[in-house]
Amino acid sequence: MLQSLVIADDVEDADDASSTSDIVCCETDLAGLPSFVKIVEVGPRDGLQNEAGVVPTEVKVEFINKLAEAGLPVIEATSFVSPKWVPQMSDHREVMKQIDRRPGTVYSALTPNLKGFEAAMEVGANEVAIFGAASETFSRKNINCSIRESLQRFKEVTEAAKEVNIPVRGYVSCVLGCPYEGDVKAEKVAEVAKELLDMGCYEISLGDTIGVGTPGAVKHLVSVVSEVVPLSKIAVHCHDTYGQALANILAALQMGVSVFDSSSAGLGGCPYAKGASGNVSTEDVVYMMNGLAINTGVDIHKLIDAGHFISTAIGRRTSSKVAQATKCSL
Ligand SMILES: [Zn+2]
Repeated sequence: MLQSLVIADDVEDADDASSTSDIVCCETDLAGLPSFVKIVEVGPRDGLQNEAGVVPTEVKVEFINKLAEAGLPVIEATSFVSPKWVPQMSDHREVMKQIDRRPGTVYSALTPNLKGFEAAMEVGANEVAIFGAASETFSRKNINCSIRESLQRFKEVTEAAKEVNIPVRGYVSCVLGCPYEGDVKAEKVAEVAKELLDMGCYEISLGDTIGVGTPGAVKHLVSVVSEVVPLSKIAVHCHDTYGQALANILAALQMGVSVFDSSSAGLGGCPYAKGASGNVSTEDVVYMMNGLAINTGVDIHKLIDAGHFISTAIGRRTSSKVAQATKCSL
């Protein structure tokens, strides 16, 4: 429905245009975009872990089930970090045990070390994720060790995962800026990304953790990282803190990236900027992909419904513009 509205608008605009030059330009800019984009839904983990109030397990479970029902191919369901650090994720085992397993959906979990990995395996995670930073100070403050030490620890996880054939995804955080160090060099990001790739990660997600990036910086970053990591293995993870996320995603798409992380309802926040937005909302990303005729396999109506469910459950207004705009028509 939403998609056909967009197409209808486009046709009208085209008819009204006095010259066709704009349309030709648009087609040139958008030529070569992928026909399919994989969306990794990180709302239940990256989103909810930043929510101040504890979210009941049954709410998380129903949220994840609704996301799977909407057709999201990968859902990062929880995190096996110590409850001491992230109390919001302390029900990780219960969440993994209670969710319905929709055939074809990948349910992944963040596992910072071997202990976390083993716990995730016990409750049937299909995929795990590890996370390194491109900023030394951020690494020390966030995970209490140097970049080098963190990579060593992750190696234990990738080796254990290899033995049981579990895919490992690698995150690099602060790729476009660090709350402590400011600018982050694309070369430093590429170095960490390459190490994660070499230790066995099948996909490297470049995270603009504080949402400061702009499209030119994204293009530069993707171009530098793609010299050492194949484009098909690069994902982009945007936060919308400065309102740049969709523009950054489009820039990455134009560079050939076809995997994007997002959170339903734009859940979450940024621990370094009070009141700031969280991840880019999945609804808005899917709407944009629909408009570009790029298939995601996601039913936007069911997705909007999942976003409304979680927003209502946690008493928070959705950050998705698409969800806000379509609320009355649902
Ligand atoms: Zn994030």
